[in-house]
Amino acid sequence: MSTDLQKTLPPYRIKVVESIPLLSREERQRALAEAGYNPFNLRADQITIDLLSDSGTGATSAAQEAGAALGDESYAGARSWFRFHDEVRDLTGYPHILPVHQGRAGERILLSSLLEPGQICLSNTHFDTTHANVALVGAEPRDLPCPEAADLDSAYPFKGNLDLDAVQRTLAGPDGGRVGLVLMTITNNGLGAQPVSMANLEAASALCRRHGVPFFLDGARFAENAWLVGQREPGYGDWTPRQIAARAFQLADGCVVSLKKDGLSAIGGFIGLRDEELHAVCEANLIATEGFSTYGGLAGHDLERLAQGLREVVEPRYLQARAAATARMARSINKAGVDTVQPPGIHALYLNAGRLLSHLPPHQFPGHALGCQLYLDGAIRCAELGSLYLGGMDDQHRLVAPAPFELVRLAIPRRVYTDTHLGYVAEVLAGIAKHPERVRGYRIVSAPRLLRHFKVRLEPVPDPGPASER
Ligand SMILES: *Cc1c(COP(=O)(O)O)cnc(C)c1O
Repeated sequence: MSTDLQKTLPPYRIKVVESIPLLSREERQRALAEAGYNPFNLRADQITIDLLSDSGTGATSAAQEAGAALGDESYAGARSWFRFHDEVRDLTGYPHILPVHQGRAGERILLSSLLEPGQICLSNTHFDTTHANVALVGAEPRDLPCPEAADLDSAYPFKGNLDLDAVQRTLAGPDGGRVGLVLMTITNNGLGAQPVSMANLEAASALCRRHGVPFFLDGARFAENAWLVGQREPGYGDWTPRQIAARAFQLADGCVVSLKKDGLSAIGGFIGLRDEELHAVCEANLIATEGFSTYGGLAGHDLERLAQGLREVVEPRYLQARAAATARMARSINKAGVDTVQPPGIHALYLNAGRLLSHLPPHQFPGHALGCQLYLDGAIRCAELGSLYLGGMDDQHRLVAPAPFELVRLAIPRRVYTDTHLGYVAEVLAGIAKHPERVRGYRIVSAPRLLRHFKVRLEPVPDPGPASER
C-alpha cells in the first residue's frame, strides 16, 4: 500500500504560487452573462479553476527557471539554441531540427512545404489547427480513426489508433495517388486523449513506406502517449517513456511538435526532419516568417526552459503521478454518476454531457450547457466538444447537423492543481448530477462564420421545450 502511494506521489513540491479568485454566485452569474455565455470571453480573474486548456498552462520547475536565467539572446548561434537542439535531437533522432514559436507555426511551414493543392492528408484525427493548415494549402484533411474510437464506454486501450484497413484501402484505391502525407496525432487530442499503440505506428509506418508516402507524427503529447504505451501495450513494460518516445519518432520521417504541452513551457515547438531537401525548403520559410533557424521566434530563455522541460517530462515518476491524478479524478466523477470517455487518458477528461443532460436536445447544446453550469456553480472553466463546436449550422445559426457526441473537455494543466482542486471540480459536478434536469439549454445570439466557438454569443433558453422544436 505505502509503496503504491509513493509511486503516485507527485515527485515535486510547490515553490512559487499564484492566488486564484473566488467569486460569489451573483458575480459568477454577471460575469457569464457579460461574456455572452461563452467561457472563452471570460477574464482569467473571473475563474477559480481553469480547465480550458493544457496548452502553455503548466508550471515550470526551479531547474527550468535557473536555465532561463542563462538564456543566451544572441541573434544567431546562441548557446541556448545548441542546448535545445541537442536535447531534441537526442530524443527524436532527426538530423534536422527547426525551432518554431508554437505548434501551428510548424504545421504551416511543414504542410505548405510538403503538400500540394488537391492532395490528401490522412490522419487518425487532425487537430483543429492542423486541419486548417492542410485546408489552407488547398489539400484535403481526412480523418480515419479506428472503429473502436466510436464507442465512448469501452475499455479498448488504444482508441487513438489509425484505421489501418481504411488507410490501405485509400492508398490502393482511386485516390491513392493523391495521398501526400499520413500524419499521426499522439495522443489523439481530438478523440478523447486516447493513445496510439506502437503496433499501430509500426504498421502505419510500413504501409507508408510501401506506398512511398511520407509518414509524420504530430507529437504534442509524445511523453504521455509513451507512458500509456508502457502501461497498456504488451512488450513495453520494461521500456522507459523516453525509449518508447524515441522509438515512435524513429518510425516516422519527421514530426511537428507543439511544446506548449509536453515541453512543460508556456511557448515553443519544433519541426523534426530526415529529408535534406524538405529541410531546406522549410528552413527558408522559417527564416522568412518565424525567425532565424537557431531561434525560430523563441527567446533564448524559452529555449532553455524547453531543453530542461523535455528532460523532466519523460521522468517516469512525473508521468505516473500525472496519469494517476487524472484517473483518480475520473473515478470520483464516474462515482457521482457522470460518464467520461473510457479509459481515461492523461491530459484531459471528456464528460459525456449528452448522456447526463439527456433532457436537452443537441440544438440546445448540452455540452455547452454543462460547461456553463460548471462555471455558474463553481467558477470552473472548460471547453465544449459537441454540436456548438463541431455541428453544422445554417445561416440563421440553426443546428442542421449535430456532432456525433456532446462532450465537455476538462483539460488538466501540468503540475498546477492539487488533488484538492481536482476534487473540488468533481464535487461541483456531483452537485449538478444530483439534479441534471435543472440545467437549462442555450441558443445562439450571434456567431462569426469562421472558428465559431471562440467568439459565439449565446443566451439561456428559459424552458427546455419539447424535443421536436427546431
Ligand atoms: C496544441 C496542438 C497543436 C497546435 O499547437 P499550438 O502550439 O497550440 O499552436 C497541434 N496538434 C495538437 C495535437 C495539439 O494538441
